[in-house]
Amino acid sequence: MTSNRQAMKSFSQLEREVIEPGNCVACGTCLGLYPEQLKEENNLLGPKPVLKPGAKLEAEGLLEICPGYGIHYKNLNEHFFGEGLQDYVLGNHTAGYIGFSTDKEVRQGGASGGVLTAMLLHLFREGKIQGAVVIEQGRPEPWSARPIIATNEEEIKACAQSVYIPVMTNKILAEVAQFKGTLAYVGLPFQVAALRRLQQRGHQAALKIKYVFGPYKGTSFLLGAVESYVRSNGAKGLEDIESLKYRDGEWPGYLRINLKDGRVFRSPKFYYNYLIPFFITKESLISIDFANELTDVSVGDAWNPRFESQGQGFSVLLTRTAEGTELVREMAEQGLLEIELIEREELIRMHGHMIDFKKRGSFIRIDWLRRLGRKTPRYDYRPVRIGFSRYLVELVISLVIASCSSWPARALAERIPASLLGKLFDGLRRYWKFLSKPTKRKGISHVDYEQID
Ligand SMILES: Cc1cc2nc3c(=O)[nH]c(=O)nc-3n(C[C@H](O)[C@H](O)[C@H](O)COP(=O)(O)OP(=O)(O)OC[C@H]3O[C@@H](n4cnc5c(N)ncnc54)[C@H](O)[C@@H]3O)c2cc1C
Repeated sequence: MTSNRQAMKSFSQLEREVIEPGNCVACGTCLGLYPEQLKEENNLLGPKPVLKPGAKLEAEGLLEICPGYGIHYKNLNEHFFGEGLQDYVLGNHTAGYIGFSTDKEVRQGGASGGVLTAMLLHLFREGKIQGAVVIEQGRPEPWSARPIIATNEEEIKACAQSVYIPVMTNKILAEVAQFKGTLAYVGLPFQVAALRRLQQRGHQAALKIKYVFGPYKGTSFLLGAVESYVRSNGAKGLEDIESLKYRDGEWPGYLRINLKDGRVFRSPKFYYNYLIPFFITKESLISIDFANELTDVSVGDAWNPRFESQGQGFSVLLTRTAEGTELVREMAEQGLLEIELIEREELIRMHGHMIDFKKRGSFIRIDWLRRLGRKTPRYDYRPVRIGFSRYLVELVISLVIASCSSWPARALAERIPASLLGKLFDGLRRYWKFLSKPTKRKGISHVDYEQID
């Protein structure tokens, strides 16, 4: 007979509480911790962990680490920053900058200003790390991506740019455990939260990671988005793809897909964003961390007309820990990064819509899901009050996403040329941003939050 205590420890509890309700955020941590028992399974709803045939898993504390089950931000902040969450919008930080790598090749090769790659290269050259956990686009299949430990400069450079489909980065923990040396790591907010939880608990492999970096993270989309895009351009499907880059060319970059038959599809970043409402991941809708709040340094795109008009590549950086602050200072002093301090208000204005999407929108969506009796991640804080007009805005957003992500809408979208849909979406996006700006921006930098745990 299975006792309650045993049931509490088994993988089936993770399945029941997180995976079956659709709250697996594809961090890959459980795969990295239990590679003998678990494997990754991919379907149209994204990757998820499943038991290997015949395997059993009794594991203590899995739910406490799983970010899809919940994250206790206060606790993590106290551990890593020595104080609770002081800035609920951007996360605890020591300074914010606009910046870029002064190495032209790195800057051009990066998603924005090449800052993440520059930091990894610097640490590697200085001998402070022997490897870096990064994402390799194009392996094992041309359309997929996987985490690797890069152990030379060429590998680090080759793994620059963003990958917008879910990648279970933390499954690399099994390899990290075998690695001899110290590491830097790049991960998305949920992945970083799980890694930090492991470090807090003294997990040996996680503690080999001395520098934790991460991109800002707005939304990501399911692999079906790529399939739909190539089909709407006349290809059969993913199997026709020879290579794919999400941020090719000059900042902000193009989606570039080369087909095996020699055809090349290119779509500006803001055009292929039309795929987002059709294929957005649930993780994007329930995450409340936009600026990757638990890293040493977080990096995003510097969305501001002053920088966008110059092209070339500009990042926004938030330094958080003493290590991250010192690293950026040292690199600026050595002329490896060019940086300019910016104020908190400007940092928030730059990403006002996405901050609102996470810092109010996610809380409303989670509240609605709970009222419908669905399981949702447990977070330890919430906004004290959200105005009625913001609920109305959310109703429109959620209805658009719910309609677009239905099978008929996806099938219809596939029949419309991607270039046309991209232009149409970009126009609508600008209009909607203009229309909803007063409501979304109202007080976003000063929303009050309360601890609930
Ligand atoms: C899914 C996703 C959504 C994003 N949403 C936003 C947004 O809404 N607003 C915004 O300002 N910025 C967003 N970013 C961040 C932005 O795209 C750039 O990553 C960031 O500006 C850093 O640019 P860089 O030139 O310094 O990095 P680069 O020098 O290009 O280095 C990027 C590093 O990130 C790693 N990486 C790429 N994809 C992933 C991934 N999926 N998981 C883990 N590591 C990865 C690469 O391996 C590489 O080491 C997003 C990034 C991702 C991956």
